[in-house]
Amino acid sequence: MITKELVIIGGGPAGMSAAVAAFDAGVRDLLIIERDVKLGGILRQCIHNGFGLHRFGEELSGPEYAYRYEKMVAEREIPVKLNTMVLDITSDKVITATNSTDGVFQIKAKAVILAMGCRERPRGALAISGTRPAGILTAGTAQKLVNMKGCMPGKNVVILGSGDIGLIMARRMTLEGAKVHAVCELMPYSGGLARNIEQCLHDFDIPLYLSTTVVGIEGKEHLEAVTVAQVDDKRRPIPGTFRRIECDTLLLSVGLIPENELTKQAGLTLSPVTNGAPVDQDRMTDIEGIYSCGNVLHVHDLVDYVPEEAAIAGKSAAAYIKGDYSPAEAIPVKTDGKVRYTVPQKLTTRDEARLFFRVANIFRNVRIFVKDGENEIFSLKKIKVAPGEMESITLKKEVMEKLSGGELYIGMEVGE
Ligand SMILES: Cc1cc2nc3c(=O)[nH]c(=O)nc-3n(C[C@H](O)[C@H](O)[C@H](O)COP(=O)(O)OP(=O)(O)OC[C@H]3O[C@@H](n4cnc5c(N)ncnc54)[C@H](O)[C@@H]3O)c2cc1C
Repeated sequence: MITKELVIIGGGPAGMSAAVAAFDAGVRDLLIIERDVKLGGILRQCIHNGFGLHRFGEELSGPEYAYRYEKMVAEREIPVKLNTMVLDITSDKVITATNSTDGVFQIKAKAVILAMGCRERPRGALAISGTRPAGILTAGTAQKLVNMKGCMPGKNVVILGSGDIGLIMARRMTLEGAKVHAVCELMPYSGGLARNIEQCLHDFDIPLYLSTTVVGIEGKEHLEAVTVAQVDDKRRPIPGTFRRIECDTLLLSVGLIPENELTKQAGLTLSPVTNGAPVDQDRMTDIEGIYSCGNVLHVHDLVDYVPEEAAIAGKSAAAYIKGDYSPAEAIPVKTDGKVRYTVPQKLTTRDEARLFFRVANIFRNVRIFVKDGENEIFSLKKIKVAPGEMESITLKKEVMEKLSGGELYIGMEVGE
């Protein structure tokens, strides 16, 4: 069996950044495995700009951003296997993969970094009644068709879900000559970034209907119309609010699911909130030497945080490979429900820790606090927090060094 010190599964921004960080920390026997024909991940189809402001201080398109990392991988001559699908990982880090030249092969790795990204929730997960015509696709699939294949899926469009990909596609389809009749959102707020609502909907006069969903599909061969309805606070359609919209395309932007089939095969349990494996500050999972980063760990709305997180995993994996790994007793981080989750979910070093989190609803005038037992060790006021925007707080080293060793609790007080 082939052996490798480090195998990185997935060649998106997370996988590439993790590989570069591991290489820069001294790992030479490493391999990136990517099932697609090129490195870059989902960014290859995101041809709009707005990427890289945090990371490079420049406004780049998705492919330009990905190319920056591709170049770093190439400059270091980090080996990559493209067109190669990882089929299985065991808890003792044996990876089974396949491609058309090597057939099925196995690699025994000292450390593995999971960077498989996420996929979109499909129609099947929604239980919308009606027929099953052509013309219903995820917003990401439409993005790939339009931006990479030069092919318009339709001309009269309704979008269900106001996550960022749906908002971006509302603008994209409009720019390509389609009429976007509406973006419908089940929740009373949008799941997308405020700037995307402004730049993708308001700037193009595309209506956003909140607390509204699609309740019916019409069409035999191809989609002919959808019925939309307002929903009550229990998300049930309200009689008398049904409205038919003629359209040939329904784009779904109803959530992303981390691609964690391999993670489960390795024997890891997933967090029911993030759908990713719980990790410590090093982004190490509950299996020593297996790390997780990027969208497979938790869904990121902005790509800029992804390479930062992945670099932590890459550097930590390098330390683990060199035998430079001695975790302190784990301190679990619990949340109050208004804060839905944190990543990392536990702290195993007393170094400075940045905790990323998402909230359960739109809250205004909030105070976010962290408690070590009864002792409040951190507090931060914010005017507004929203589920669509990832937040973070940093616990300084001097705070971390004084922790009692018991559970940490992150909560939020909401003002009037
Ligand atoms: C449709 C879509 C549109 C987006 N648009 C934006 C945007 O406009 N702006 C923004 O900031 N962010 C956007 N994002 C989010 C951003 O692109 C992600 O945060 C970022 O790409 C995540 O990087 P990643 O490396 O974790 O995942 P990805 O970029 O998804 O890369 C994962 C890689 O792993 C590979 N892989 C998966 N499973 C296997 C396997 N079993 N074997 C081998 N390879 C495998 C995949 O082929 C893929 O290349 C978008 C995300 C999606 C899904």
